[in-house]
Amino acid sequence: MVDNNRNRSEEAFARAKQFIPGGVNSPVRAFKSVGLTPVYVERGEGSRIYDIDGNSYIDYVLSWGPLIMGHAHPEVVEAIKRTAEKGTSFGAPTELETLMAELVVERMPSVEIVRMVNSGTEATMSALRLARGYTKRTKIVKFEGSYHGHADSLLIKAGSGVATLGLPDSPGVPESVASHTITVPYNDLESVKLVFERFGEEIACVIVEPIAGNMGVVPPLPGFLQGLREVTQQYGSLLVFDEVMTGFRVHYNSAQGLYGVTPDLTCMGKVIGGGLPVGAYGGKREIMEMMAPSGPIYQAGTLSGNPLAMAAGYTTLKLMTQEVYHRLEQLSVQLQRGFEKNAEKHGIPCTINRVGSMVCPFFTETHVINYETAKTADLNRFKGYFANLLHLGVNIAPSQFEGMFVSAVHKQADIDATIAAHDEALRRL
Ligand code: PMP
Repeated sequence: MVDNNRNRSEEAFARAKQFIPGGVNSPVRAFKSVGLTPVYVERGEGSRIYDIDGNSYIDYVLSWGPLIMGHAHPEVVEAIKRTAEKGTSFGAPTELETLMAELVVERMPSVEIVRMVNSGTEATMSALRLARGYTKRTKIVKFEGSYHGHADSLLIKAGSGVATLGLPDSPGVPESVASHTITVPYNDLESVKLVFERFGEEIACVIVEPIAGNMGVVPPLPGFLQGLREVTQQYGSLLVFDEVMTGFRVHYNSAQGLYGVTPDLTCMGKVIGGGLPVGAYGGKREIMEMMAPSGPIYQAGTLSGNPLAMAAGYTTLKLMTQEVYHRLEQLSVQLQRGFEKNAEKHGIPCTINRVGSMVCPFFTETHVINYETAKTADLNRFKGYFANLLHLGVNIAPSQFEGMFVSAVHKQADIDATIAAHDEALRRL
């Protein structure tokens, strides 16, 4: 265990703040809610990152999910290099895009046909436009504390950084846009049904994270996803699964494979890009063919299907065999059990939610099933815990409303060291 200094990170952050808003290119990176200076990363390798002060950390952020094969995996790096040598972007089709699409279609049960974009935000934004264009309806239903990227219609009672910074509704989203978004508590099927009784004929889609990952980690209660499937079908609305975080993370066939529920459209990102900027949306052929050029609904992208991103994503997915998911499950169970034991030993109230390699220790005794219950967590305690862990060489997301991600290259020694650091972090509270 190390007691690290971060003087160079402090200097780097001070300089960045002069030229970049808040010093960062994505808000959660600033460590604002935990009152610390962000760690400036010099490089990553496997399960570890190394900062510019020479400290190393076991990493459970993994670029907020994408790096399921760890940092700088040799095969992924090699694929990117080989591809880059032939050119980085053409704005013309390449066969790599079809290879990638075939693989996604093979593994994502509901997806018959898929369009690549550059981020999760683009994926959800495009899926919404498609749902609205296809159904010729305007309203959408989303869940409180869910985050689906920063498109206007979706920045309403959102999770992730929006929840962390306490900014539930963003200025700049016109009221006329926000008024079409209906929000309901996660896991509350009764509320969804009531909303449909009232507005059913006007609702284009329900968009849901099949495992909520932006208010911590909150699994769906039994029957919740099935219930959404039924009620949307009954009213002719589309069911959109936002699997940007869960896609190829929780199961070989993603959350929809794990729970056996088939949405109409699926949004993807993170893991499918293998650490490069990628998003995708796909689903039923009949619906997807409404997109230009086969249909009238427009969406485009200068860099969409980018060769480097396709190479990184394809190589990552190919490395993700059933055995790899099995190993991820085993490592993640160990973390959960170790954390539970530690919390009990120190008499600290803690509820640990986990699905596959998404793990979230909440500082509360309450069973966390939605945003309201997630908010019962002791955020002050989280702050101290986060600072302690960082000092002890373990990097987690700087928010109680984010989970930890385990990679397939975390070693047994990493898991053991993390459980020991967790023990010490709780002792120091
Ligand atoms: N949907 C979900 C479920 C996410 O977790 C995220 C990002 N954390 C997004 C959408 C947005 O993706 P991106 O940051 O790539 O725009």
